[in-house]
Amino acid sequence: SRSYVITGAGSGIGKTTAAILEARGDTVIGVDLRGAAVAGDLSTPTGRAEAAAEATRLAGGTVDAVIACAGLALPKPLTAAVNYFGMTEFLDAMRPALAGSAAPRVALISSMASIQPVAPALVDALLTDDEPAALAIAERLAEDPATGNLIYSSSKRAISRWVRREAPSAAWAGAGIPLNAVAPGTVVTPMTAELLATPDGRALVDASVPMPLNSHQGPESIANLLIWLTSVENSHCCGQTIYCDGGADAVLRGDDV
Ligand code: NAD
Repeated sequence: SRSYVITGAGSGIGKTTAAILEARGDTVIGVDLRGAAVAGDLSTPTGRAEAAAEATRLAGGTVDAVIACAGLALPKPLTAAVNYFGMTEFLDAMRPALAGSAAPRVALISSMASIQPVAPALVDALLTDDEPAALAIAERLAEDPATGNLIYSSSKRAISRWVRREAPSAAWAGAGIPLNAVAPGTVVTPMTAELLATPDGRALVDASVPMPLNSHQGPESIANLLIWLTSVENSHCCGQTIYCDGGADAVLRGDDV
């Protein structure tokens, strides 16, 4: 059996991933604002450091895999803080614990939104890892509803690019740790429940994320892919964002591979 730290374990994809792993006998230490073993706030540098320290302590110092799911989709700067730094800084803080594993693995969640329109200035600021500068840009984007929605897509574009940039580095591949992302299409979770509850909301979602295969998915399909990416069997998948989206990426990007 393996030990996992999962952020966002209190709801949706993170909660489902934790339940599947626990049911098969693995150990899961969840991190979330509430409803998890570690009550932590990944929106601040202190919160991330404290959550990583507490998760490491509960794991006894060594963790086999970390799966970063925590995120939110509000048109606010908080979304950039949690979706980008709440993953990247938290994962960096977990590297010492991963170093003790014989088969360390990391996976995190991007989104279909990563290939939708973004605010390039915010993406670039996130990737320089300058949180105050990034949040100042997000603050300005949030002032106008037309640009506020770009905060989410920008945070996810930055996450996919961070994975691409960091995965081959000494810190990750050099330490024997495959680092990958999953980009889900529309998933039925508390995050999307309100939007999917009305015909108008569903039409809006389906217009931006067409899913020719099997339409909206439950969290299990994403959970099982995250579990494979963080399994011992994944020896060579590295630096990828894998779209699990009923064909949405194939429609939206077409030949642009
Ligand atoms: P969810 O809202 O059910 O779960 C997200 C969890 O993150 C919640 O438990 C929440 O408390 C936690 N979280 C939020 N802010 C936090 C903070 N500051 N500190 C700690 N935890 C915090 O949503 P979900 O659908 O399970 O989303 C999981 C991930 O999947 C997110 O990164 C989301 O962006 C991504 N995603 C979801 C969909 C979808 O359609 N549901 C599509 C693409 C990507």
